[in-house]
Amino acid sequence: MSGRTRSRARPERTCVGCRKQAAKADLLRVVLVEGRSVPDLRGTLPGRGAYIHAVPGCLELAVRRRAFLRAFRVRGGPGPPDTTELERHLRGAPSNEP
Ligand SMILES: [Zn+2]
Repeated sequence: MSGRTRSRARPERTCVGCRKQAAKADLLRVVLVEGRSVPDLRGTLPGRGAYIHAVPGCLELAVRRRAFLRAFRVRGGPGPPDTTELERHLRGAPSNEP
């Protein structure tokens, strides 16, 4: 097979922190719940999701770039979604979750 370098079997998403593409399975899905960014650990929460590497460094980048504001299309709100819960999760968890 030629011409196609990408397979649809492995969906890729862009990390909102470092902006690199990675396999969806390697990224943590984050959803907006009542104005807060929370980790979607089971991948079952409804709503618009953003994807990020489960490492503090990428979260810091995302916060600095206000990437969650864009990812969740927050408009006219009080500010960027709170990331306290997400931060706690990332700092408390190993970078490579099973
Ligand atoms: Zn990243």
